[in-house]
Parts: sequence; structure tokens; C-alpha cells
Amino acid sequence: MTNSNYDKNNIFAKIIRKEAKANIVFENKHILCFKDIFPKAPVHILIIPKGQFKDIFDFSINATSEEKKAIYDGFAEVIKIFGLELDGCRIINNFGNDGRQEVPHLHFHLLGGKDIGSMIS
Ligand code: 5GP
Repeated sequence: MTNSNYDKNNIFAKIIRKEAKANIVFENKHILCFKDIFPKAPVHILIIPKGQFKDIFDFSINATSEEKKAIYDGFAEVIKIFGLELDGCRIINNFGNDGRQEVPHLHFHLLGGKDIGSMIS
């Protein structure tokens, strides 16, 4: 779908269009999962929809059920790929200014491979 508030030149849009490189660990029709360029943990994967959604609010309102389900399927795929089923991980979404979202394309951080520590320091 098209969102008039969406910046088509953001870096994740370029990664989706394969105009910018990324270390992709999983991909299907609806989502792309790739390594964060500045990892904050041994496993730091970004899970993003391929649709043009600028943030979690936009996605919550405008994404289809299929697109929403695909995000959860992506979490499961990445957990399996990195063998995090037993030790767990943290999944974070930053939204807007107060959430300190830097890239204006919805993304979930999946962090694991060590004890991630307390939620807010
Ligand atoms: P935010 O603060 O918006 O939640 O997180 C943006 C994340 O995107 C940061 O963790 C940052 O390291 C990552 N990032 C920014 N630019 C790139 C890039 O070009 N490639 C990859 N793989 N990650 C990026």
C-alpha cells in the first residue's frame, strides 16, 4: 500500500529495493530480516515489513492481517535461525521522537546471544 507520509528514500526502503546492501538472514513476500549495522548484542537482527509503513502506529492502523502475521512469523524464524528458543531474547520497537526512532520505516530489533540486561537503564 502507499502511505503519503512515508519517506521512500529512507535507508530501509533502499535495502528492500536492494539498492543498498544488507546482511539478510531471512526474507519472504512480506518481511525482511537483516543484521543491524551497529549490533548491540551478539545477535541483533532487524525485522521489517516490506510494505511502506513508517512506524508501529501506521502499521497497526493500515497493515493487513497477513502483513501483521508475517512479522510474528519473522520473529519465530529469526529465533530458530539463531537457536534462541531456550535462552530467549528481547524484541524492541522504537516509535517516534519520544521512542527515539531513527529510521522512518517500521522495524523491530531482536537482541540476543547474551543476557540483555534490565529493560530501561
Ligand atoms: P532505531 O533507533 O530507528 O530504532 O534503530 C535504527 C537501527 O538501524 C539502528 O540500530 C542502526 O544501527 C540501524 N541502521 C541504520 N542504518 C543502517 C544500515 O544502513 N544498515 C543496517 N543493517 N542497519 C542500519
